[in-house]
Amino acid sequence: MPKKGRVFSGARPTGRQHLGNYLGAIQNYVALQDDYDCVYCIVDVHALTTVETTQELRQNTFEMAIDWLAAGIRPEESILFVQSNVPEVMELHTYLSMVTQLGKLTDLPTFKEKVAQQPENVNYGLLGYPILMTADIVLYKTDVVPVGIDQAPHLEFAREIVRSFNYRYKTKALIEPQVKHTEVLKVLGIDGKAKMSKSLNNHIELALTPEETVARVKEMVTDPARIKRTDPGNPDICNVFTMHKIFSPQADIEMVNVECRTAGIGCVDCKKLLAKNLNAHLEPFRSKRAELESQPGYVQDVLDDGGKRARVIAQKTMTEVREAMALP
Ligand code: SF4
Repeated sequence: MPKKGRVFSGARPTGRQHLGNYLGAIQNYVALQDDYDCVYCIVDVHALTTVETTQELRQNTFEMAIDWLAAGIRPEESILFVQSNVPEVMELHTYLSMVTQLGKLTDLPTFKEKVAQQPENVNYGLLGYPILMTADIVLYKTDVVPVGIDQAPHLEFAREIVRSFNYRYKTKALIEPQVKHTEVLKVLGIDGKAKMSKSLNNHIELALTPEETVARVKEMVTDPARIKRTDPGNPDICNVFTMHKIFSPQADIEMVNVECRTAGIGCVDCKKLLAKNLNAHLEPFRSKRAELESQPGYVQDVLDDGGKRARVIAQKTMTEVREAMALP
């Protein structure tokens, strides 16, 4: 079947992936491979805007690549690579920065948020982040970018930069990427308060052992009104139930939905059931991961090969870009 076009997406090398990453991005990356040529990038250069030491960058990149492959990224079809292995992106970033107004960058809410988060390290990279992101996307002649509703403004900004470039140099060398809205399943962390995140330590790693998963699920915060076992609960406000709806068979979901409200099931048993279903769901991923972990040379080859294939596309784009700009 002919593919519908090229998809690009990137994520920072955050190491071992968790359920939030899986539901929010990886699952979708895997599914998109059926219809699109996919280019997936581990954006290590972007990571430098917030991390000050690079000691863990290699290991984190590697662990993330293993998780993506174990989840179903098919390297024989899709390109999986590391951003810094294609230096053309830095060159394109520079050219695109000349058609981007400074005021627009400083006005972006994401920039202001970062300044507030790390006032001691307001580096140029934070400001230029959207330009580098645009370079990532357009360097690979991307047709569509999968984004959640809340990220759509970022892509609109990238499209504006592309229009400015093409207008200034009277060219069509760069393609304006289209948004592909994706429905993202959001789960809260085990604290039941914030989005699942490694930095908040409220996450459940995909690569945990079944026993570790049981222990992590046991820590999950439930309906706070259920203090005693005999208190009826409200599954609609309980994160454990949200996860049941994603990972459990229909019969279990229906049972919890009824029994929680009448105190027919206690939270301890409800969590045990969730952990069992979660472990069953993750079993194929974990056995694939173990296989990949025993072949580090293979994983490195995948990344190297991905980098080479990405670079072929990047070099072609840069030839067109330099030509359009009439660079001497
Ligand atoms: S029984 Fe399950 S759904 Fe109900 S409050 Fe406890 S953990 Fe949540």
